[in-house]
Amino acid sequence: MKRTNVVVVGAGPVGGIAAYYLAQHGLDVVLIEAGPDCAQDLRASTFHPPTLEMLDTLGMAQPLIDMGLKAPVYHWRERKTGEFFSFDLGEIADATKFPFRIQCEQYHLARLLARKLQEAENAEVLFSHRMLGYRQQGDKVVCSIETPVDILEIEADFLIGADGANSVVRKLMGVEFEGFTYPEKFLCLTTSEPLEAHLPNLAPVNYVSDPEEWLVLLRVPSLWRVLVPTEEGDDDEYLRSDAKKEEVFGRLIGKPEVETHHRTIYRVHQRVAKSFREGRVAIIGDAAHLNNPLGGFGMNSGIHDAFNLCPKLVAILKDGAPMEKLLGDFNEQRHRQTREFVQAQTIANMEFIREGDAEEHRLRRAKMAALTSDPAARRAYLLRQSMIESVRAAAEEEAQPAAA
Ligand SMILES: Cc1cc2nc3c(=O)[nH]c(=O)nc-3n(C[C@H](O)[C@H](O)[C@H](O)COP(=O)(O)OP(=O)(O)OC[C@H]3O[C@@H](n4cnc5c(N)ncnc54)[C@H](O)[C@@H]3O)c2cc1C
Repeated sequence: MKRTNVVVVGAGPVGGIAAYYLAQHGLDVVLIEAGPDCAQDLRASTFHPPTLEMLDTLGMAQPLIDMGLKAPVYHWRERKTGEFFSFDLGEIADATKFPFRIQCEQYHLARLLARKLQEAENAEVLFSHRMLGYRQQGDKVVCSIETPVDILEIEADFLIGADGANSVVRKLMGVEFEGFTYPEKFLCLTTSEPLEAHLPNLAPVNYVSDPEEWLVLLRVPSLWRVLVPTEEGDDDEYLRSDAKKEEVFGRLIGKPEVETHHRTIYRVHQRVAKSFREGRVAIIGDAAHLNNPLGGFGMNSGIHDAFNLCPKLVAILKDGAPMEKLLGDFNEQRHRQTREFVQAQTIANMEFIREGDAEEHRLRRAKMAALTSDPAARRAYLLRQSMIESVRAAAEEEAQPAAA
């Protein structure tokens, strides 16, 4: 039977980072991925400052910066009037080495990590390998994996499930995935049409509020992404049709006939697994928690999970640190951070942007105007929405027991 220290399931950005961290710190790792390559889908594109700081410790911040677009400024905009409230991360340059977001499609990072792992002597990447099941036997986990030709068994000290929203590892752990699903679907269209030529003063990231149809406009190096909510009951064929595309761009820039490169439909959930760990098995990233994309916290918080869990696995395997204590801490710390910051803030961001009646909308606008004109409130907002505040608070809390 094949043996390794850690099996990581899922070569998305979160599994890729976890595997790369462990390999960089001297552990043997096998990363298994059901697909024939890292999925090239249209999902995360925003990397926040604390995530860049973490990636920097692995020498991965600069390659990401080189592949992406630096976005220090983002806007909350009023769709009808074009009024915007600008937030500049340059104002908190004293709080981070990276006072900007990097806009880069997540698959660029996942692919780079997979390539680097393939070159490492202590790591293996197995594409077209699907996790089927595991059993915990004493101090080992035996994983059953479907290959293109047979079933492979790998014995490991630990198993990490980074296998996304439909995680088989989470299902095998038997933990509840508590929360709710938004009733409407979300449509993401990409275009090389220069939206900035139609909408004056556009920032690379724009949250556009409107009582009738809010939207998010995001720039990645080669394209604009337009994210809109859809009507409950609209079928997928209609949502992917030219008619829908023309409606969206006609309303947005007065030009229905733009070329699109992707038309992707999403269901959006707010869910957290009841536990992120069972014995020697842990789940991280979307396998453990899901949230709406407003703020760009999903992948970022998944990477933060990896940076909490992996040092603990290294300490257990290399220094004999106590497993129960460290994995219990991982579960408690990341569960709390997910509930108290990521879930709470993304739900608040959705409430804030969502269409409401005109009076609610007027109040929201007034709140944003008051916030931006108060330097202390604006700074607090920047620290919160860039995840710096929550990551810093979590780090202080995690350091406390050791200092006691
Ligand atoms: C429209 C949209 C925009 C978003 N924007 C942002 C953003 O800007 N910033 C942000 O932080 N987040 C964002 N998110 C969320 C983000 O995309 C996810 O949080 C992120 O992809 C999670 O990464 P992951 O590695 O945990 O899972 P995934 O990226 O889903 O990767 C899981 C991998 O596991 C593999 N897999 C699944 N089952 C198995 C199995 N049984 N065996 C082997 N392999 C398996 C899959 O093939 C996949 O490659 C956005 C989401 C959406 C929908």
